[in-house]
Amino acid sequence: MTPRADLAVVGAGIVGLAHAVEAVDRGMRVVVIDRDERAVGASVRNFGHICLTAQHGVGLAYGLVARERWLGMAAKAGFWVSEAGTVVAARADDEQAVLAEFAAQRGDQVRLLDAAGVRAKLPVISDEVVGGAWLPLDLRVDPRQAVPALAAWLADHGVEFRWRTAVTGVETGAVRTTRGTVAADRVVVAVGHDVDRLLPDIAAAAGVRRCLLRMMQVSTPDSAVFDPAVLSGLSMLRYAGLTACPSADAVRDRITRDDPHLLDVAMNLMFTQRPDGDLVIGDTHRYGLTHDPFDDEPTGDLVLRETARLLGVDHLTVRARWRGVYAAAERTEFLVADPFPGVRVASVTSGIGMTTAFGLAPTVIDSF
Ligand SMILES: Cc1cc2nc3c(=O)[nH]c(=O)nc-3n(C[C@H](O)[C@H](O)[C@H](O)COP(=O)(O)OP(=O)(O)OC[C@H]3O[C@@H](n4cnc5c(N)ncnc54)[C@H](O)[C@@H]3O)c2cc1C
Repeated sequence: MTPRADLAVVGAGIVGLAHAVEAVDRGMRVVVIDRDERAVGASVRNFGHICLTAQHGVGLAYGLVARERWLGMAAKAGFWVSEAGTVVAARADDEQAVLAEFAAQRGDQVRLLDAAGVRAKLPVISDEVVGGAWLPLDLRVDPRQAVPALAAWLADHGVEFRWRTAVTGVETGAVRTTRGTVAADRVVVAVGHDVDRLLPDIAAAAGVRRCLLRMMQVSTPDSAVFDPAVLSGLSMLRYAGLTACPSADAVRDRITRDDPHLLDVAMNLMFTQRPDGDLVIGDTHRYGLTHDPFDDEPTGDLVLRETARLLGVDHLTVRARWRGVYAAAERTEFLVADPFPGVRVASVTSGIGMTTAFGLAPTVIDSF
């Protein structure tokens, strides 16, 4: 018989693993349960962008805590992390105005660049660039390396992983699974968007929908090295810190007028470079409760075309394509709810789980 755990975590994505790390730090006996044989959800499909500076309010506060945690865990668990920050490339004066407003609010967190300054940080970039900003606090990891490394580190530090074990229900003191019941004093449910399947009433009350993203890996023009993550003017319409700038309205108005097709697919044009040199590019967003399984080719073509335009190159060679899903709620960036005493749902409902999970986890664990 397995002894009763202090904490059972359902879900071995970044949110579940961050909770397990916090619990281990507090000396708790932890069991992590996941239906797959390894994490294959949103946490390994993303850009690996710890995009904290562009957040706002609680998201920014969590991001700042998470930054230290990522650096510490990279050293302990032995995975790659880049401290080269983010460059936001502005291709219109209204975009540069947003960055100037943002810099005025954030001091050293946002360093304005002229076009030459952007070119000094990004070896290949469009002639359309008029300026930009460098966000030095942002980090990058390779999610395909970091997430398994975190799980391996946790296993080495006494955490029991039950892979290929689907959770069918949770209640006070127990987790029901396809391989029997796990007894635990407390349960954290960190199943990402699958909260709508496991606890549908909690998800419905929070207005959780599934956000579907299209992603690609492309070869890098001229084998260039991009140390920072790269955001664009479209990112100014997505991240809360930037959308909160009144000057972002002018960017939205222009894009609505000149390029409405980009807003139709809710594009956030951005990329990061993988340690193997390829670029991860994206992304588009579609919201719904259940998504069609069919990917339309024009949307993929649009992402490729816009990325090539941002880079100022004619052609990009696609090496891989995939889709990812995260939980999205209009009213809240973080869903934390207690369906039963001792059972807590923790889901990042805003597409910034890599940035914030390590900030959310200590607040969840310490307030149980
Ligand atoms: C394409 C894409 C790009 C993104 N880019 C970024 C980025 O660059 N920066 C950033 O901060 N965020 C990014 N995000 C968001 C971020 O990836 C997510 O917020 C985060 O990974 C969510 O983590 P999670 O652990 O909640 O979910 P997941 O990683 O999906 O993990 C949930 C786990 O729960 C398990 N599970 C579900 N149901 C059950 C069940 N019943 N029983 C057992 N196990 C179950 C699943 O198997 C899964 O392993 C991106 C997301 C996507 C999709």
